[in-house]
Amino acid sequence: MIDDRRHPLLSKAEPVGQTQLGDEQAPKDRLGSRQVQEVEAETALTDFTRGGNVTGEAWSLNPYAGCHHACTYCYVPNTISAERKRWGNYVLVKRNLLRLLRDELDRKQPRTVYLSTGTDPYQPIEAERELTRKTLRLLSRHDWPVEVLTRSPTVLRDLDVLEDIDHLRVGMSVPTLDDDVREILEPAAPSIEARLDTLSHLSRAGLTVFANYAPACPLTGDLTAMDVAEAFGEAGVQWVNTSFFRHRGHIVVPIWDEVRGTEDEHLARFVANREPQETLRAELQEALGRLGIPLHTAFYNPPFEIAGVRSGYKQLTLGQVPVEARPTAPAAREAVAP
Ligand code: SF4
Repeated sequence: MIDDRRHPLLSKAEPVGQTQLGDEQAPKDRLGSRQVQEVEAETALTDFTRGGNVTGEAWSLNPYAGCHHACTYCYVPNTISAERKRWGNYVLVKRNLLRLLRDELDRKQPRTVYLSTGTDPYQPIEAERELTRKTLRLLSRHDWPVEVLTRSPTVLRDLDVLEDIDHLRVGMSVPTLDDDVREILEPAAPSIEARLDTLSHLSRAGLTVFANYAPACPLTGDLTAMDVAEAFGEAGVQWVNTSFFRHRGHIVVPIWDEVRGTEDEHLARFVANREPQETLRAELQEALGRLGIPLHTAFYNPPFEIAGVRSGYKQLTLGQVPVEARPTAPAAREAVAP
């Protein structure tokens, strides 16, 4: 049993407070009173090289700054020195992004473009602004490899654009199968069911898809690691990425703030301690292995010639889980049309 009074982070946790960005405190509720502001960006493609099997040489591209999905554990506000209390309340739209990208595509080295690493490219504002859609079109015309990672079914709107990208993979972040846990940790993000359905649509449309079980949440209720593996197998993923919760105050403390004094305190204890996370990873690895699904770290960047179904790579056999025959692209488009 973990003693919170002795834990280096939980014992010292105070309510979240960081430097204020301004005097104005935007109200925040579950649907959000959300601010949108247009800004000029300095660059479109940012170096995202982590080396080896993690990313190899890569770029990241974030059409927006800020994210209305408002995940409690989001690491981004700390990496960009933004105020955590307002994280989820605002989005900055990079109005000059496409002009910058056109220029950079002509003079920078082609590498995998991660879209995105500091925002969700299909958060609600994208339905209106279509900045991600236009970005993907440009990348497609220049034939650059692309990885899309999102939590939102809005990605299905762009199936026509995605199908035109020769070297593409699409990931869906699904860090738990328990929608009650999702509600606590990702209060404004789409439901888990919607995400699994989206993965199925994308894989049936013939795209290379993976699940991002990251940061890996504890197995709650009756859920087992095999339930997670089977859910991803049925959704047609070719591999799963996962990561631990970062064992740092700026990740642990906001979650502790959220669940302290409730029956969900166990979530913060899981996040604050490495051992249960390592046990979960081992269980996941074993369960996925039984279905023939590889487990990798977050941002895994396999060479596209072995990752893409459409590049002729023999599709992985998912053990007992039958892989459906993939319908033709137009039929799949009809199936997911709103
Ligand atoms: S979707 Fe990603 S960027 Fe957005 S709040 Fe959640 S973790 Fe942060």
